Amino acid sequence: MPANSMTADHNATTVGEVTLPECWIWSSEDAGKTLNAGETVTATAIFNLYNKGNYKNETVQISITRPAHILMAITKKDASCTENGNTTYWTCALCGRYFSDENGTTEIPTGSWIIPATGHTLYKEPVAYVQPDAQKNGSVTYQCQVCDETISIEIPATTIIVPDTLEQLTDVGLSVSGWTWKTQEKLLPGTIVTAIAAYKVTEDLTITDTIQIKVSCSATNGSYQLGSNDAVTIRCTGVLSAFRRLSVDGKTLVQGQEYTAASGSTIITFNADYLNTLSAGKHTVVMTYDSGDVEAELLITKAGDVPKNDETKIEPQPDNTGSASAAGETTPSGNGALPATGDDTPVLLWLLLFTASVGMLIVVIRKYKNIK
Ligand SMILES: [Zn+2]
Ligand SMILES: [Zn+2]
Repeated sequence: MPANSMTADHNATTVGEVTLPECWIWSSEDAGKTLNAGETVTATAIFNLYNKGNYKNETVQISITRPAHILMAITKKDASCTENGNTTYWTCALCGRYFSDENGTTEIPTGSWIIPATGHTLYKEPVAYVQPDAQKNGSVTYQCQVCDETISIEIPATTIIVPDTLEQLTDVGLSVSGWTWKTQEKLLPGTIVTAIAAYKVTEDLTITDTIQIKVSCSATNGSYQLGSNDAVTIRCTGVLSAFRRLSVDGKTLVQGQEYTAASGSTIITFNADYLNTLSAGKHTVVMTYDSGDVEAELLITKAGDVPKNDETKIEPQPDNTGSASAAGETTPSGNGALPATGDDTPVLLWLLLFTASVGMLIVVIRKYKNIK
């Protein structure tokens, strides 16, 4: 027979969850009764076996006490600039539940006590500033009015040189993390694009940096046979509107007399009269655009010249920015002395020429070593 008083498990929430001795059950009216922590409830237990009805005491009134929560208070903590705070709340050492009151009556979900960090409140004027220049990053330092902490932000250098393969500002990476482009610009080869990058310091403070993007360009080479009076054309990916001048071997040529410049992107056509004044051999052509200089080679040959293998190769200019496409799309025109680069060129011939030039290179290296 069960005793007249019992202590329930702390986690039992109804009478039915309280264990009785064998052959005893809770009366159906009482089994669903709520057990509140720290409270006592009276319920009826009934003897329930095949021979029931033969005993004097087949029902027992039992007072069940569910132990109270053992509550610990977590006291209120204000949020700081960078750390969350919390409201006061209580947690039970027995069941681990959370409560918003010291009596453990109102249960609350995990995390509902969090007061979010406020973020810094910075003085408007920075405490230190290093202006970025074309090559070097700068920095700006702000101080917080609340916690005195200082925050330094790196500012990207104000010039970025990009190859002509990039078409949109969004393709241009910023070297300092946290900065994003605020503007949408199209990148045209040969031009300088002014763009604005932004950095969000706090909700109220965003700083900006004006960056000049120099879009490089690349050019094809040209060749001319003296006296042939053929048109010689050099193409450059730079847009004509950004083209400023052209020089050959350091001498600036007169546009309209010694050459013409047409759009597409830039098509330079040399005047035959001018070309006939040049000596046989390689000449350096420099095209100046807003974004800088681009170099090409102008090869002048004499009639009857058999081009030497090292002169026939078209090599990318070392200072071009890696855009081989421009050099490949247009074959140098205007000179029959150059071997055709079409599909009908015997592969074996090219292979021989290549082997010969490698051989020459090895000889040169050996000579150089001997001198040393
Ligand atoms: Zn508890
Ligand atoms: Zn702060």
